Amino acid sequence: MLKTLLIANRGEIACRVMRTARRMGIRTVAVYSDADARALHVQMADAAVRLGPPPPRESYLNIGAVLDAAKGTGADAIHPGYGFLSENAEFAEACARAGIAFVGPPAGAIRAMGLKDRAKALMARSGVPVVPGYLGDDQSTDHLAAEAAKIGYPVLIKAVAGGGGKGMRKVEAAPDFAAALEGAKREAKSAFNDDKVLLEKYVSRPRHIEVQVFADTHGNAVHLFERDCSLQRRHQKVIEEAPAPGMSEAMRKSIGEAAVKAAKAVNYVGAGTIEFIADASEGLRSDRVWFMEMNTRLQVEHPVTEAITGTDLVEWQLRVASGERLPKMQDDLVIHGRAIEVRLYAEDPDTGFLPSIGKLERFSIPDDKVRVDTGVRECDMVTPFYDPMIAKVIAHADSREATAAKLSDALAHTFVAGVKTNNAFLIRALRHKDFLSGEVDTGFIARHGHDLIPHTAAPADAYRMAAAALTRMAVPKQNDPWAVYDGFRNSGQAAQSFDFLVDGKRKGVALPGIQVRRNAEVQQLANGDVAVMEDGETWLVRPYDPFEAAEAAGDTADRVATPMPGKIIQVLVKPGETVKKGQALAVLEAMKMEHTLAAPSDADVSTVEVQPGDQVPDGTVVVRFKQQEQKAA
Ligand code: ADP
Ligand code: ADP
Ligand code: MG
Repeated sequence: MLKTLLIANRGEIACRVMRTARRMGIRTVAVYSDADARALHVQMADAAVRLGPPPPRESYLNIGAVLDAAKGTGADAIHPGYGFLSENAEFAEACARAGIAFVGPPAGAIRAMGLKDRAKALMARSGVPVVPGYLGDDQSTDHLAAEAAKIGYPVLIKAVAGGGGKGMRKVEAAPDFAAALEGAKREAKSAFNDDKVLLEKYVSRPRHIEVQVFADTHGNAVHLFERDCSLQRRHQKVIEEAPAPGMSEAMRKSIGEAAVKAAKAVNYVGAGTIEFIADASEGLRSDRVWFMEMNTRLQVEHPVTEAITGTDLVEWQLRVASGERLPKMQDDLVIHGRAIEVRLYAEDPDTGFLPSIGKLERFSIPDDKVRVDTGVRECDMVTPFYDPMIAKVIAHADSREATAAKLSDALAHTFVAGVKTNNAFLIRALRHKDFLSGEVDTGFIARHGHDLIPHTAAPADAYRMAAAALTRMAVPKQNDPWAVYDGFRNSGQAAQSFDFLVDGKRKGVALPGIQVRRNAEVQQLANGDVAVMEDGETWLVRPYDPFEAAEAAGDTADRVATPMPGKIIQVLVKPGETVKKGQALAVLEAMKMEHTLAAPSDADVSTVEVQPGDQVPDGTVVVRFKQQEQKAA
């Protein structure tokens, strides 16, 4: 068995691989970029080596640096995770040359499956059904357009080197072809440095069905049944499950056998996934499912397969990489129950799923009934450098309904603030009637966008909860107000209200009489917003701040005055000093909170008109500035 394993990856997959390695008594080595110096995967490992600056090219994709790290720490194997170097044949070869086991298939198998056109041609020759289309070398626009017409619209243009849904365009009709081709090529060139494309018939009512395969170095190959990954946006998976809803035993057997055949055709070793596309317009049928591509690595969604087969696929990978036989043969593998995984992304569904960067000021997912694979902790940063997936949550139960309910329940008790996430979107998808009845295909999210992304403003309740929490800010544990508020009522007392900024205007919100304990949390974020988290949703509300309002109203440029009565507790500038826009001038204590008065623009201080300790009414001039003079040329 391997002794020391270097994991050439980051985030949840690095942590997940380490958990298994550790259980098997294998020493683990992490690698990291400067952006990840304090990341969870670094902390978990027995040793960690810096690779370089944050951009992947200079760190996680730097083959030389990764191999140096392996040699320097005496690693006898490298697990590439997914993404990054996992499907890089040169890297697999470089490992072999260095005498380090690459936990993955041989370079030849990666090459054979690496380009979609070659993989499809190979599969067709091996008798595996492939999506009808064009795989040729003539890449001129006219020729491709003629081939598209022959295939029949709609067609799909795909970058042969593609991955992660990049370099792909669906074309509905001939007049749109040229522009779509140009877009696909441009994207492919920049993402993969290869703009060759293939054309495929766009399958109607497409379902993405993939089969997990596994092979060892002794000539054994098995499949571990299918996963359905039809819930996608922009050709990227969001919710995955195993087994596929509506799959018959006969069809399962036939695609499983086709997948094993595909793996054998390239002398595959280790974990791989054969992706198929099915036309589900009349349910799943054995004669309407075609090979799409092979991913020669561990897949993001492998946990659903682990759940239903009771296996640890990383353990299998490490055993196979050590030269052992597959732990189970085909007849030993059976399906138990159903599993569903969601990918929790730091992204904003309201803005077309743009990644959301920032600090995870709150991050908590209950893991007592579900599996949580994550690489981040509360207070970690989501940076712009890497994939914005922050966690995978996986549920397993006897029935599909029970699994979906377990999963949506865990997400409803999940609290995230500081970055936007797709959590509430995932909950709505899991509770959607069409999802529950197994009516899934790749158009699901687009079709139900209205239900899944309702674009609603924070409800009145969110303001009431924020108001209740803010007026009790003095309580020690401010992010769990309901522990304090249980049974709190203010009925019968004088009316109280709290002011918020709603649509740019000041609005008073009456304090509620909270009578029931709710599954909610309120937390004020560093930027002053208040995050009200309830039922998996995070509402952001903004307390009305007279200081901010004064600033927004364009405070007169020649002075700064107090926006409310209070006590000056600090004066930070002197007459004659030059200050920068935003620089702190003085600190005012008002309403038991400290407020910093800042310079509205770059300026020279002329006079300071207050002293520490002064009790001042609002409108008191704190600092006057010299009038701006024409700058000498
Ligand atoms: P899967 O089918 O397992 O979801 P994807 O092709 O979507 O596989 O890629 C898996 C993950 O790896 C995604 O999160 C994607 O963003 C990331 N990824 C894909 N290619 C790269 C790459 N070249 N470098 C870094 N990450 C990548
Ligand atoms: P990638 O390498 O980016 O994963 P794939 O070839 O696996 O590219 O396709 C990604 C997704 O695009 C699939 O999961 C499926 O949703 C959709 N897709 C691919 N081919 C077709 C097709 N011929 N018809 C309809 N949808 C397709
Ligand atoms: Mg794919």
